[in-house]
Amino acid sequence: MTQMYESLGISREVYEYSEEILSGLKNRFQKIDEIAEYNQLKVIKAMQDARVSAECFESSSGYGYNDRGRDTLEEVYAKVFRTEAALVRPQITCGTHALAIALSANLRPGDELLSISGKPYDTLEEVIGIRPSRGSLAEYGVTYAQVDLRPDGSFDLENIRRAIRPQTKLVEIQRSKGYQTRPTLSVNQIGEAVAFVKSIRSDIICMVDNCYGEFVEISEPSEFGADMVVGSLIKNPGGGLAPAGGYIAGTKECVEQCAFRLTSPGLGREVGANFGVMQSFYQGLFLAPTVTAAALKGAIFAANAYEKLGFSVVPNGTEERHDIIQAITFGFPEGVIAFCEGIQAAAPVDSYVTPEPWAMPGYDSDVIMAAGAFVQGSSIELSADGPIKPPYAVYFQGGLTWPHAKLGIMKSLQRLYEKGLVSFPS
Ligand SMILES: *Cc1c(COP(=O)(O)O)cnc(C)c1O
Repeated sequence: MTQMYESLGISREVYEYSEEILSGLKNRFQKIDEIAEYNQLKVIKAMQDARVSAECFESSSGYGYNDRGRDTLEEVYAKVFRTEAALVRPQITCGTHALAIALSANLRPGDELLSISGKPYDTLEEVIGIRPSRGSLAEYGVTYAQVDLRPDGSFDLENIRRAIRPQTKLVEIQRSKGYQTRPTLSVNQIGEAVAFVKSIRSDIICMVDNCYGEFVEISEPSEFGADMVVGSLIKNPGGGLAPAGGYIAGTKECVEQCAFRLTSPGLGREVGANFGVMQSFYQGLFLAPTVTAAALKGAIFAANAYEKLGFSVVPNGTEERHDIIQAITFGFPEGVIAFCEGIQAAAPVDSYVTPEPWAMPGYDSDVIMAAGAFVQGSSIELSADGPIKPPYAVYFQGGLTWPHAKLGIMKSLQRLYEKGLVSFPS
């Protein structure tokens, strides 16, 4: 084993440090495997109950009428998320698009959208119109209100009660911290917040941005009263195989509204060819529980390896996990750059290129990104990025297999070690 690692550029010091960290994580990894086992069974049961067959993988073109593969897949998703219905389509281009559909389909002029988990994910600012943008909900007369989480990361129930007005139509909750440093919300916490909102007005639609959270726990927010859960197929539920796509699972009413918005009034879910992606959608969902487990192990390994070296990490090494994102704060730019170089060097694709900080649209500083992915932009595959500005933090996620995630972290440690940025406690 050490020789194999050596052939990939891992020195004995990094290998031994890594093994020592990992020897303390056995119990946690076992719990992750148990969650994966439960979720794997859940997915298999859903596929069996929906009678998935080889015909479901057939390609369709044109209008896509009577697409059995597409319709059965949506049934499978509804079973997995324990909802009445689901919309799972390659025509949903990404997570932001899925969220934009869910919001614009269920809100009308004069309605108010209320976020109760603070500022939503960056890209939603333009969807909502927090930052003025063409085609935003604001342009269509949908207003927006926000209640921040309390300093300890819990829901601010008192202010939520105050913020709910007669025009409040939809409440948004973001499960993952995204690229903020607040804690990620657990499914339980989300369930309590949904119950609280419903106790004030039962007709308010509760939508959860579920990105990065799928299969991290044994249940999903839709099992605790959320009317819609929304996410991207190039994150957890696509299992690394889906080449694109998004999903919305929820009540029949909400999902129908989404279908009419996605395609056209009058057409709804009846149209939408599958272009041959069905096998990857099914097989990706089948793999998603173990792929998510691999990514989680990588995140926990990284947290513990870098915490012990003295860096601040969010979540910390021992915290319970509710999503797959790991933040590591280096405090100096060389750390961010060396980390990303290591992740890139561990990739199966494009391992020979060196990532460099660069100006990117939408960012106010240079950003460095590392990804050697089979699917472009896929962040369930091992990837890392960080803006080159204080506090010089890197955000890291994904890993289709645990050995690859492990190698990625080890290569990052190796890069920092070679540049003299860290030394290992003996
Ligand atoms: C990734 C993400 C999104 C947006 O998804 P894209 O596929 O990048 O458009 C929205 N919300 C959260 C919390 C995310 O992590």
